[in-house]
Amino acid sequence: MALAAGPEAQRGKLVVTNIGLLLTGALEAPLGDADTIVVESGKIVALGKRADLDTENAATTIDAHGCAVSPGLIDSHVHPVFGDWTPRQNQFGWIDSCLHGGVTGMVSAGEVHLPGRPRDIVGLKALAITAQRTSAAFRPGGVKLLGGAPVIEKGMVESDFYELAAAGVTLLGEVGLGTVKAGYEAKEMVAWARKYGIQSTIHTGGPSVPGSGYIDADTVLEADADIIGHINGGHTALPLRQIRCLCEGCHRGIEIVHNGNELAGLSALRYARELNQMHRVILGTDSPAGSGVQPLGILRMIAFLSSFGDVPAEEMFACATGNTARMRKLEGGLIEVGRAADLVFMDRAQHSSGENLLDSLRKGDLPGIGMVMIDGIVRCGRSRNTPPAERIPEIL
Ligand SMILES: [Zn+2]
Repeated sequence: MALAAGPEAQRGKLVVTNIGLLLTGALEAPLGDADTIVVESGKIVALGKRADLDTENAATTIDAHGCAVSPGLIDSHVHPVFGDWTPRQNQFGWIDSCLHGGVTGMVSAGEVHLPGRPRDIVGLKALAITAQRTSAAFRPGGVKLLGGAPVIEKGMVESDFYELAAAGVTLLGEVGLGTVKAGYEAKEMVAWARKYGIQSTIHTGGPSVPGSGYIDADTVLEADADIIGHINGGHTALPLRQIRCLCEGCHRGIEIVHNGNELAGLSALRYARELNQMHRVILGTDSPAGSGVQPLGILRMIAFLSSFGDVPAEEMFACATGNTARMRKLEGGLIEVGRAADLVFMDRAQHSSGENLLDSLRKGDLPGIGMVMIDGIVRCGRSRNTPPAERIPEIL
């Protein structure tokens, strides 16, 4: 069983040094030149060249041995239920397994797989509040799951959104998975949610599983949710001309998921690049789902989109980290002073034909993970799920 993060906190000063490649998570400058990061109380307090930093009196020193360090990956689209269990594939430990794929943060797109999920308004509000509370209090492997994403239903009124926000709910589940499927109805509720600080995601494309719905580009544009959820369908995608309309017709988040249509995902990426709007691209898995659970899903997306989409791998890392953190207002996602020390240590996988980590991703290979840290606490060493990395960090 995965360990829950209770009141534990990082103590003393932590220094990470000998970083070979710094992936910043910032799309505008995705590669940094720092070789050392200093962490205190779970936050990055300094970064730069070791000689320029105060690294004395560290309680813990980690020698990265030339590995790359990236912000922890953020899965923008998951369907959790409670704890580290998913009824969709009747699997335990899926979140902890994703930690071994470099994922340190997840955002719920709705606790839709709960058997007997309530669809009445008081029931769906109660579920959302419960899911928000449980995900905040129980963190498998330390992974930060932002949960409690209600699926809106017909009959909800403005005061429902006020109540949800007052109770601590910050997200809507995928619009369109409930009875609200028409653009004009969704638009009103999305606006109420936004008024009270609740972020929204809309389902895009054909139904995912029996009971889910079809949402076309006109509906997505009319509803005006903050994130165009799985723009490449989950699984059935809209025609490519509609996906292009979505990219051109609004400024909302372009979310590409693992469990969607790969051709459509690649096309959405190309449209975003043509529009010079890569800052809108974020990545998710849309798991657990009918397609299963993908512990390496975000890494696979980075390798797939970088290799087939001909995009520098460091930019795809930014899509999977900093873009999502900025859009979702999360505390990690970027390696900069003041951010949470959620870090992934990686290197080229053993026997990859790539010349280095970034080149191996451009050739479609997955990297090897040697360590994952959340809030300045080492959560795992060499990943049990990735191919073995050539170099791994060491706690001195
Ligand atoms: Zn969906």
